[in-house]
Amino acid sequence: MRILLQFPEGLKQQALRHAKKLEGEGNEVVVSATPTFGACDLAIDEAKNIGAQKIVHFGHAEFHHVDFNVEYVPYQIDADLGILERSLEPLKAFKTVGIMTTIQHIHQLESVADFFRRGGKEVVVGRPYGFAKKAGQILGCDAGSAASIDRKVDALVYFGGGMFHPLGALLMTTKPFLLIEPFQGSVEFIDKYREVYAKRSRGKILASVEAKNIGILVTTKNGQNNMVMAKILKAKIEGAGLGLNAAILVSNTFDFNSISNMLEFDAFVNTACPRISIDDTDRLSKPLLSANELNEVLKIKAELKSYNKA
Ligand code: SF4
Repeated sequence: MRILLQFPEGLKQQALRHAKKLEGEGNEVVVSATPTFGACDLAIDEAKNIGAQKIVHFGHAEFHHVDFNVEYVPYQIDADLGILERSLEPLKAFKTVGIMTTIQHIHQLESVADFFRRGGKEVVVGRPYGFAKKAGQILGCDAGSAASIDRKVDALVYFGGGMFHPLGALLMTTKPFLLIEPFQGSVEFIDKYREVYAKRSRGKILASVEAKNIGILVTTKNGQNNMVMAKILKAKIEGAGLGLNAAILVSNTFDFNSISNMLEFDAFVNTACPRISIDDTDRLSKPLLSANELNEVLKIKAELKSYNKA
C-alpha cells in the first residue's frame, strides 16, 4: 500500500524511523514535508496527488470526518506528576477544581484528579464538546470541556505543555486559572491574560472603524475551511449600507507577508482556525478580526453613521 505520513512539527524528527518501519512491513511510504497544524489539516490533496491509499497522521486524535482512509496515531507523553505538589499551596483557597489537559496527557488526567482528591479537593472533569473526544480534553479551538464546568468550580487547572491550549480555555472561562506546566516546571495563575487579550480585541475593533475594504481569509485546510461563513460575512459587509467592499482571499497556509502586499485592504477577517485572529494579529500591520469582532465593527460603524446624520 502507498502511504503518506503526516507529522506535526514537534514529531517530524521521527519521520524516517516511522517510514522505515512501515516500509519494512511492505508498504511504499512518502512523508509530507508540509507544515501540519492539527488533525484539522489532513494532507488529503497531497495524498491524492501522489496516489496514496492511506494517510497515517501522527500526534493528534480525529478532528472531523473525511472521506479518505486516515489512521490516527495519537502521541502520549508521560509528564512528571511530581510538579503537582507545588499546586496545593496556590489552590488552598479553592475547594472545587476543574481539571483539563490535551490529548497528549489525557491518559494522566485520572492521576491528576486522584492527586487533588487526596489533597482534599472536589474534582470536576468536563464532558468533551465539539472537536474534543475525551472528558477533560481541550484543543486550541475547543475548550468546551472547560467552559461547561466554569460555573461549577472555584478554580480551573490546566496540566500540560505550553500556553497555546490553556489560553483558549482561559478566554472562554471566568474562574481563577492555574497553569501547571511540567516541562518548564512552572505553576502559576494566568488570569491576567484575560484582560490583555480583551484589550487587544478592543484595540483591533477601534482600529477597524475607519476601514472601507475588508479581506475575508478562507483556508483550504479541510477541517478549517469555512467558505459558507465567508460568503455570509461578505454579504453582510457589503449589504450593511455603509459603502464597504469585501473580497474573499483563499490560501492553504496564510503567508502574512504575502497578505501584507494586498495594500487595498484596511482590515482582514479570519474564518479559518479561530486562533489565527487571537495569536497572529501582530504578524499584520492591519487589524485581523474574528467574525464576532467584525460584527462589533459593523455595529459601531452603523451607530456612527446614524449619529452623524442626526
Ligand atoms: S486550534 Fe486551529 S490548528 Fe488547532 S485543531 Fe483547532 S483549528 Fe486546528
